[in-house]
Amino acid sequence: MRAPSSHAKLPGMGAVRTKAAWRAVNRAIPRAIATLLGFLAVIALVKTAVESQWADGWPAALLVFVGAFALWWPAIFIHELGHAIAAHLVGWRVWIFCVGPFVFELHPRLRLSRGALLEHDVGGFVLPAPKTAAQNTQWRDAVISAGGPAASFAAAALVYPYALALDGGAEIEQVLAGALLAFSASSLACAVLTAWPHAGKTGRPNDAASILRKIGARPASPLTHGAALMHYGLDPKHFDPWIGAPVANAIHQQTTLAEQFVEAIAQDDVARAQDLLQGAAGDAVQVMRAYLDACIANDAAGGEAKLAALGAFPAGWIIGARLRQLALVAIIAASGERDDAAKRLTRLAQDISRDSTHPHWNALIDRASAQLQSCA
Ligand SMILES: [Zn+2]
Repeated sequence: MRAPSSHAKLPGMGAVRTKAAWRAVNRAIPRAIATLLGFLAVIALVKTAVESQWADGWPAALLVFVGAFALWWPAIFIHELGHAIAAHLVGWRVWIFCVGPFVFELHPRLRLSRGALLEHDVGGFVLPAPKTAAQNTQWRDAVISAGGPAASFAAAALVYPYALALDGGAEIEQVLAGALLAFSASSLACAVLTAWPHAGKTGRPNDAASILRKIGARPASPLTHGAALMHYGLDPKHFDPWIGAPVANAIHQQTTLAEQFVEAIAQDDVARAQDLLQGAAGDAVQVMRAYLDACIANDAAGGEAKLAALGAFPAGWIIGARLRQLALVAIIAASGERDDAAKRLTRLAQDISRDSTHPHWNALIDRASAQLQSCA
């Protein structure tokens, strides 16, 4: 899998139902094949466990269970490695490499990612981005998407004959043969799941589907690449300049907008605050809209929905984080958890009292505590 970088076009209403049915069938076929391959992998492990003297004194079922679990992750690892190698070959930078629960940042230095807690609905993913504008081409992107399934097919095809050749040898070779057969089947399952074009239930395209979507489409903008990187908690100051400069510019614009917004709220000029957001878009604007809903219009549900649709803020974007906290205070108070809301507000007030650079914040805190009192 690859991390998402583009959105599907909305289909016309008339075709929606047929398309949904087709999508469900199209999703079921590769899954059925992969499940069958999974069974074959388990059978190979069962056969090995039953025939092996190593299983003596060990519950064979446990051996099979551990074996099946242990061989699925190498198959995913090989698949993601295929994406990463393809990215390297076309000159893109690999920012994140994830297998199972382990999410690694590779740049500027290898470390476990702060985005590790982010949910991802696939066994693993690789997040690459072009180093320069000239490299930002669709064919490179497509090659990277193809690298995963290609590696899975290659691993399955290379390991299978080797496993057959080992079978019938000494005890240890038989165990190895069973493990390699199971790995080959797992890798083939991985290949089928990603090379058969379909979208998951969330609408996220798999590798083959994202290649098809790239045909004739324009390359992602530097801001789109930047947003994908920030979504996984990467700091814009490390971005390559062709992405970093427009991102820094956008953050600067958002910060200026947010400062004007806070000033307008502090002066009780809600109309001006609303005017500022006219026609604007992005996470910064979303958090300001959430604030307006939750704290000004007493629409906790509306505010909550807008907060839920938020991506990740760039590291250290304090204004956004504070507005989000204030919206949360109102939402939590509206749900009846007044004590929790009051605690959050107190913590935020303490944090703000240490920072004298933004005098308007005290007015927003006062407004929030007045609101808390009134709903007591
Ligand atoms: Zn993939």
